[in-house]
Amino acid sequence: MRVGMPHAGNLYIPFKAIFQRLGIDYAIPPVNNQRTLSLGVKHSPEGLCIPFKLTLGNLIEAAEMGADTLLMIGGSGICRLGYYAKVQEQILHDLGYDVELVQLGVSERKFFGLLGMIKRLSNNAPWTRIISAFRFGMAKLNALDKIERTVQKVRAVELEKGSANQLFARAVNAIDQADDYKTLKKVQTDYIERLNQVNRNGNNRPLIVGITGEIYVLLEPFANLDVESELGKLGVEVRRMLFLSEWTKFSFFLNPLGVDEKARLHRAALPYLKRDVGGDGWESVGEKVLHAKDYDGLIHLAPFTCMPEVIAQNIMPSTRESIPVLTILCDEQMAKSGMLTRIEAFVDLLGRRRRVRNK
Ligand code: SF4
Repeated sequence: MRVGMPHAGNLYIPFKAIFQRLGIDYAIPPVNNQRTLSLGVKHSPEGLCIPFKLTLGNLIEAAEMGADTLLMIGGSGICRLGYYAKVQEQILHDLGYDVELVQLGVSERKFFGLLGMIKRLSNNAPWTRIISAFRFGMAKLNALDKIERTVQKVRAVELEKGSANQLFARAVNAIDQADDYKTLKKVQTDYIERLNQVNRNGNNRPLIVGITGEIYVLLEPFANLDVESELGKLGVEVRRMLFLSEWTKFSFFLNPLGVDEKARLHRAALPYLKRDVGGDGWESVGEKVLHAKDYDGLIHLAPFTCMPEVIAQNIMPSTRESIPVLTILCDEQMAKSGMLTRIEAFVDLLGRRRRVRNK
């Protein structure tokens, strides 16, 4: 058995660590690139969202590398994600790949579903080994996210643009290579220190822009044309509530115990949207309402044809809590130059708005 999985930001790093510790043979496809997208677009129904197309591209590339057991996230929510794995499996079979898609039902079986899946992939490894491998994978995920939070702050004020990104790329690589807790801790501390020592341009109050929207396009820089780095180049500090380590902590451990981290967002959205509309649409509205006073503006990332985010997009302009929102629809037609023009104009507007307010 050879296991493959699609990308979502740096998610492959903790999974790789788990596979290695349990002796699972794996094939991680190349990070998202133009070929991945072309493969996904070519073999997907046209109207599907970019998460479907890119993950299909990844799965095809993993199958090309010999993977026969492919992991794919699924769920029982309102959006189309619930049937993606089945459709993708059918497409792969039609293309002649003899693969099985294992669906990771995050909405239903949570932590135990994930552990059960790992047990099966590891050919029934003892639970102690599985838990230990899982813990190490989680430690890598936490380290990645802690460093990325620092990167978001440094990008906005670095003197030499690109320094934080270079350090981040090296940190990601070092975390990937780390094979014990001590090395991991050292990498985390070293890189946070190095990021904090990056030369700054003296701007102590950069513009703050929140990033919200659908989880996949938030976490996958290839899908959003690396909008966070581009905002950093414009001197903007990005605030994103959603990080994979947090999401995992709540989805797998705390939600089953009744702790709902999204309750605050849902309460905030309630006057405008009274129910879950699938995906992350309810949370997107809640974030706008909740953070209207904390941010200078909000960028709302929505995959083209994503019903939950289209609902959120249409509600956002009519909330009482006023803050400029720029919705960016992500799909294979999105061009970098178009996105840059829009965010430059948006940042310009936010700068002027802040100057007027400070007069
Ligand atoms: S939330 Fe939207 S983009 Fe994400 S899987 Fe569902 S329909 Fe697609």
